[in-house]
Amino acid sequence: MPDPRALPGRRPDRTLFPLAGDSVRKCVYGIGPEAYDAMLTSQGNCCAICRQEFRHTGTRTTANIDHNHDTGKVRALLCENCNRAFGLVGENVETLAAMIAYKLEHG
Ligand SMILES: [Zn+2]
Repeated sequence: MPDPRALPGRRPDRTLFPLAGDSVRKCVYGIGPEAYDAMLTSQGNCCAICRQEFRHTGTRTTANIDHNHDTGKVRALLCENCNRAFGLVGENVETLAAMIAYKLEHG
């Protein structure tokens, strides 16, 4: 399997992630530009989980729209790490709680 980072248009060293344009956000998530900007403002331009500040340059941003995959409801904006980690554990709250307990127990 080819390295996905080697696909055309992907930079292996990228630090910013593709910004879904206004039309994509509206089509996929039902969020218009005003609602998106309101989310950024209400979150203080920070990830809803780790509070890392989002970076935006040109057509790229580190803000990811998190949504419930069952209902499609948009929850909040997350940084790439939190969005990915949340998905990797299947958004399973028992797993997330077990991870916290594990960390507290083992340091
Ligand atoms: Zn985060």
